[in-house]
Order: sequence, then structure tokens, then C-alpha cells
Amino acid sequence: MSGNIKILIVEDEKIVALDLKRRLTKLGYQVTGMAASGEKALALVDQELPNIVLMDIHIQGDMDGIEVASQLQKIHSIPIIYLTAYSEEKTVTRAKTTKPYGYLLKPFSDRELHIIIQVSIERFENDFQLKKSEEHFRLALEAARLGTWEVKNSHEIFMSKRPNGNIEPISNWQDFFFTIDDSDKQRVVDFIDKLRNKKGSAGEIEFRVHADSNKTLWYKLYGKAFATSDAAVSQIVGVLQETTESRLTKDRLAQAATVFRYAAEGIVILNKSRQFSCANDAFYSITQFKPHHLKNKELPFLTNHALGDSQYEEIWQHVDRHDHWCGEISTFKRSKETMYAWLTIGLIPAKVNEEQQYVVMISDITVIREAQEQLSSLAYYDSLTKLPNRMLIMDRLQLALTKATRDASMLGVLFIDLDNFKRVNDTLGHAHGDSVLCSAAHRMAAVLRQSDTLGRLGGDEFIVIAPSVESNEALIKVAEKLLDCLSQPVVINNMEIVLSCSIGISVYPDHSKHHDDLVQMSDTAMYEAKNKGRNNYAFYHPSLTQKAVHYLTRERELHHALIKNEFVLHYQPQFSFSQRRITGVEALIRWQHPVKGLLSPAEIIPVAETSRLIVEIGNWILVEACKQLRQWHAKGLNDLRIAVNISIRQLADKHLQQLIADLLEQHEIPAHLLELEVTESCLQNEIIYISNLEQLENLGIPISIDDFGTGYSCLSSLKNLPIRRLKIDQSFVKGIPHDSNDCAIAAAILAMAQKLNLQVTAEGIETYDQAFFLGNLGCHELQGYLLSKPVPAEQIPYLIRKLPDRIDAFNF
Ligand code: C2E
Ligand code: MG
Ligand code: MG
Repeated sequence: MSGNIKILIVEDEKIVALDLKRRLTKLGYQVTGMAASGEKALALVDQELPNIVLMDIHIQGDMDGIEVASQLQKIHSIPIIYLTAYSEEKTVTRAKTTKPYGYLLKPFSDRELHIIIQVSIERFENDFQLKKSEEHFRLALEAARLGTWEVKNSHEIFMSKRPNGNIEPISNWQDFFFTIDDSDKQRVVDFIDKLRNKKGSAGEIEFRVHADSNKTLWYKLYGKAFATSDAAVSQIVGVLQETTESRLTKDRLAQAATVFRYAAEGIVILNKSRQFSCANDAFYSITQFKPHHLKNKELPFLTNHALGDSQYEEIWQHVDRHDHWCGEISTFKRSKETMYAWLTIGLIPAKVNEEQQYVVMISDITVIREAQEQLSSLAYYDSLTKLPNRMLIMDRLQLALTKATRDASMLGVLFIDLDNFKRVNDTLGHAHGDSVLCSAAHRMAAVLRQSDTLGRLGGDEFIVIAPSVESNEALIKVAEKLLDCLSQPVVINNMEIVLSCSIGISVYPDHSKHHDDLVQMSDTAMYEAKNKGRNNYAFYHPSLTQKAVHYLTRERELHHALIKNEFVLHYQPQFSFSQRRITGVEALIRWQHPVKGLLSPAEIIPVAETSRLIVEIGNWILVEACKQLRQWHAKGLNDLRIAVNISIRQLADKHLQQLIADLLEQHEIPAHLLELEVTESCLQNEIIYISNLEQLENLGIPISIDDFGTGYSCLSSLKNLPIRRLKIDQSFVKGIPHDSNDCAIAAAILAMAQKLNLQVTAEGIETYDQAFFLGNLGCHELQGYLLSKPVPAEQIPYLIRKLPDRIDAFNF
């Protein structure tokens, strides 16, 4: 064993050194070098790395052996044995600071030398092992960021290391104690006292420390009281750990747990297969699911079945790529109730857990959505009927047109206007008017197809978009269904009301490709339907637009004509069979146009009837006719009767009765000599007409039904209303006596009139045969070109005078 031990000899006396080398060699040691000076000794140590140095204290050079030893120990860990002839106290004390492994006082024996070398080597080996295990322990503590602490005796506490990144010893407990948070100080003192007072006890305490940088750190002190040889004293040893990080994590976890528990949003954790793992209470109360419904399943509203393949893919791909997704979904609660939810899905990466997970946050935004929907419904739906309003209708029409273009299909726009709705409103009041509109909307919606769109444009105007229609016939069917469904009586306020409507139809692509145009065109066509006699439909035709334009200009012209007094009245005689003379005349309007000459009522009445202008013109006619009659009476034709045509709109005018009363009085005309001709449409079961007719009767004015047979008079109204006369329409007179139908109709009207005690005038008599035939059937009066065309007023006295001669010539 000695042979492996390398020894360096530091000795200034050569002979002594050589003797020492000889003795060592003899003992079996290997002498790696000899140095007489400190410098040489240090150089040889570096070079040879001996296992032991035999160091003379007095050597050559500036340094003595003790100085060399302390230099050497700065770099190497080699046991040193001093060789000295002297042992004065001062030198020994100095030598002690270098922690030598031994002293050999010269002279020494080989045996002493050998023993001291062996003991040194043995001790060095032990020191080395101890150091190694200390180092190991130190590194382990450092790695665990732990420090140790110890209560040395009953009062002194010793902390070995500060357990943070920069490891530094805490030598002064008082200093460290000072940095402990004030509110934790007493607890720490109590903790140490407790250990101190109870042997074998162990414990731990966590407290805050304010580090220099004003940072608050958390420390945990673990300690145990051990028994010592002194029964009165116990040794307390433990470790100190900085727990700031884990403490913060714990705090964060506690915060997160509170959020999870009390959040208003539902929070769910899904495993890596997106299956339910847990959820907070809010989730269960929002969705009404219970944990057992969801165990090992995907969330019902996040499956591809619920979302559809494309949204499902989109959401989860987004989560995988960007770690999160948020958006709105519409789904169902467990109760099948619809729910709008705002979802946030986040990926919890695998590093936190072994496998990645997902967190899904769900907020129920149904209330917000419903409020929004209500707002948009206010903007897009008519509040009364809940039907799409104009804005939405135009939007839908545009979409339908895009589709029709793509599919090369036909589309119809039906413009529906309730007939005479204004009167319903005027007579029943707005609340009942509203009910009528709702019931009309209901009925129409019920007869339409799912693919049709019904909307309300406002007032009594509705619109239907009928997409993918095969032909105009299909649109006619739709129109007929609508007319039909409205024709059933509606009971409002205990009153039966029969509605009707007029429908205008425009067609894509025949009429236009543009939605605005199509609606405009259907509107125009609707007026045509009204002109056709209401409760009717009409298709758009370009001539209608011209007609509409013509109407507008014509209306303006008529207005001017009235102001410029361009209207004149012509009169057509009415001949009484029984009295064989002219008993009356019918006033018929003409327009003395400055450029176009004399224009017929066809150029005036239809246009005027579309507005209040007819009332103004009609009043002018009444004034004019009464003035004229007064003149004739003054000229001796004092029982001559005048018949004036009254339009339906005039009859509805509340000032009519007063005007007539004033005229009768002003011109001293007996009421029975002013006859009013109204058409059958005025006999509808409508309060306003009936009451006006009754008021006129109260004045004593006879009413005659013009163009009788062309409209739909109901027999009860003929019986109940104050009617004096029927005028058989000229269309029936035309075929007499050759057309058996016409003859039969005329005969039937006459028979009926007789039963009802009504007078009958036949108009449009052009031939003697017609006059003869009707006269024989008991017709009371006749009117027609046979006798005279309508003529200017001045010709009437002449005609009256001359006519009997002509009648005699005809011999009827
Ligand atoms: P109406 O009240 O039925 O008037 C009779 C129409 O038949 C008149 O046409 C008259 O000229 C025409 N007529 C009379 N005898 C014959 C005949 O033998 N053969 C033929 N082919 N026609 C005959 P007119 O004057 O053109 O008036 C047409 C319609 O215009 C009237 O039909 C009436 O509905 C309306 N009208 C005329 N004047 C007025 C008026 O002052 N006020 C109102 N509201 N309407 C009027
Ligand atoms: Mg007439
Ligand atoms: Mg007539």
C-alpha cells in the first residue's frame, strides 16, 4: 500500500532531505520530489500531485513552510505534515491555521514517520468521504431549493442556508426574523417553542417573508425535536423551503376553483376525446342536464349531429390550430327548449395534465337573442298582422328573384287591395278595422303554399310572392283562392261583413326582372282589377302603365276643365208610354275640349272616379242641372223631370244630402222632379250608402237604378231601399226582339218591377221594334236614339214640342 503513496519533501537542508528520502523509500513510499524553497515546492505539487507533503517550517526563500502550506491549500487538497526542530508556541499556533495532519519533531524515528504518514492518509481519506457526502447533501438541498436550520441550544437558532436561488447562509436568526411578515411572526415563535418543549415532536409552518426587493416570499419551515445526551436540551433540526411558487399556484387554483364553482357561465371540462369529464353547477342549471346524462359522452350541443358536419369540423379544427374557439350556437336544452348560447372552447395543453383536455364555457344568451329578434321583428314585421313588412318583402322578393334567375323559373307578384276597406274603418272604427285586416291576413295565409310569402305593405294592401309557378294559369288559381277565401263573411262586432279584394298580378320574367318594377306593375294591375268591378284580378300589361300615366295627366286636365268651365250638360229625353209624351230628361256630361272638341263622359267619369274630383264634378253637374230645370220650369215646362247620374263616391259623400236640399230650395224645384240615377254597386249592404239613400228619400228625391241587370242587385235591397225606378241596361235592349235571352231578361225585369211596384225605363232604344216590344210588356218609359240623342239644353223645348208628331208616326 505504501508503494502507491507519493510523497513530496520540502526541506532546505539537503542532507536531511536525502536522508528522509532514503528512509521513506526504505519504508516503501515513493518520493516524487524534493524542494528546498517554497516556490519550488508549489511547482512540484502542481506537477506531481503528491498524496502527502512533508513540510519543513524553516525553508529557503521568502516563504516559510506554513505560508507555502496555506498557498498550496488554496488550490489543492493534500495532507501536510510539518517537520520541525522547534516547537515554540507562536509557530505552532500559526501552523494550526493550515490544519496540518501532524507534526514530527526532529529527530524522529522511522516508525514515527511511518505511523504519522499512515494516520494522515487514513484521516485524509475519511475527510474526503465526509466532504463528498457533505457536498452531495449540499447539492441535494440546493437542487430541492431547501435550506437547513437548527436550534443550537435553548436560545440560539442557526439557519444554514437561505433556500432561494442565491444560496447564502443566514447566520443571524434575528435579522431573518425581522423580515418575517408581522402577522406571521408570533406563529413562528410559537412553532419553535412548541418543538423545543416537546422532544420527538415534529411540525411545519408556512409564513411570509419580505425580501429586500419588497417582494413577498413564502417559506415553509419543517422541524423535528431530537433528544440529546443532555436530558434538559433537545436538538431541533429541520429544513426551510421557499414555497412562493407553489403557494401562488395554490392560490391560483383556489381562485380558479371559486370561479368554476360560482361562475354564472357553465364550465365543462372535456377529455382528449372531447367527452364530458366534469362541469360546474351553472352548466347543469343552464342546460338542465345531469351528470349521468353526459358521462363519457360528447356534449349534446357540440356533436356533429347537432351542429352539422361543416360547423362541427370548423369549430374543432379552429380549436386544434389556435387553441380556442368562440362563437354563438343555437341549440336545445334537455327540455328541448331552444337556447342561444355563446360558447368559448379552450384547449388545456398536455403539459399541465398527462393528456390534453378542453374547457368549454357556455353562456345562455337566449334572452339577449330574443330581444334582438324582437327588435328585428319590429323592423321587419308588421306589428298588427305579424306578416313581413314592405322592407322584408322587398328583400325576400330580391332573394326569390335571384333564385328564379338561377333556376330559370317563373315568379308571380300578387298585389292585393281590399275593396272599400276605408268604409269599414270609417263606419266600424279603427279597432274593428284592425280585426278585419288580421282576419283577412289569416285567411290568405291559410290558403297559400309554404313557399309563398305573404306580406303587408301597409293599410289594406297585401302582397304575395309566388315562386316557381308553372304558368299564368297557376297564378290565376292563386288569385282565385285569395278572392275566394275573403268572400266568406267576417263577423265583427256582431256584424257580418263581406270582404272582397282586387288583385293585380305581375310576372317574372315576362314583365320585369326587377323587384321594384314588379311590385309597381302588380300595383298598376290591381287598379285595373278594381276598374273591372272589384272582387277581381288582372294581369299587368304595358298598356296599363300608359293608362296610369294617362290617368294622372287626365286628372290634372279635368281639374283645369272644371275651373275653366269647359264641361257642359247634354240632355236626353225620356218618353212615357202611358202619357205619350216626354216627361223627363237625363243630364249627361260632355267636355267641350278647346283642342279635341266635344268629349264624351268616357273621357271624364272613369278618371274622375279614381279621386275626389268626381265629387266636385258631380256637384257641379247637380248645380248645373238644377239651374237648367229651373229655367225650363220657368218657360212653362213645369212638370219636366230631370235625371242626374250619381257616382258611388258621391253617394258616400256626407254633404250630398245637404247640397241637394239647398238646391231644391234655391231653385224652387219639387223634390219628385229631381231623380238620381245610381248603379247597382250603390245598393251594397253598406251603412253609409243606405243611410244616404234614406236621407235622400226623406227629402222626397226619387232614386233610379241605372244599367239594371249588369250588376248584382239583391232583391231584398230592391224591396227595402227607397227605389222608384229601374233602368234596363241597353245591353239587354240591343238584342230585342231577335235575341230570346235579351227578351226574356227584359220580360223578367218588367215582371219583377211590377211586383215590387217599381217604374221601369228602357234605355238605348234605337228601333221601333224595341220600343214596341217593351211597350207591350208594360215598360213605363223609354230613352234612346230612336227618340233623340242627348242634345244641348236649348233643343229640349223644341224636342218636347215636336216629339208627339214623331210618336204618332211610329204608332205605338
Ligand atoms: P248612362 O247613365 O247609362 O247613360 C246612357 C248612355 O247611353 C249615354 O251615353 C247615352 O248617350 C247613351 N245612349 C242613349 N241612348 C242610346 C242609344 O239608343 N244607343 C246607344 N248606343 N247609346 C245610347 P253617355 O252620355 O256617353 O254616357 C255614358 C255613361 O257615362 C252614362 O251611362 C253614365 O254612366 C255616365 N255619365 C254620363 N254623364 C254623367 C254624369 O253627369 N255624371 C255621372 N256620374 N256619370 C255620367
Ligand atoms: Mg244614366
Ligand atoms: Mg245606363
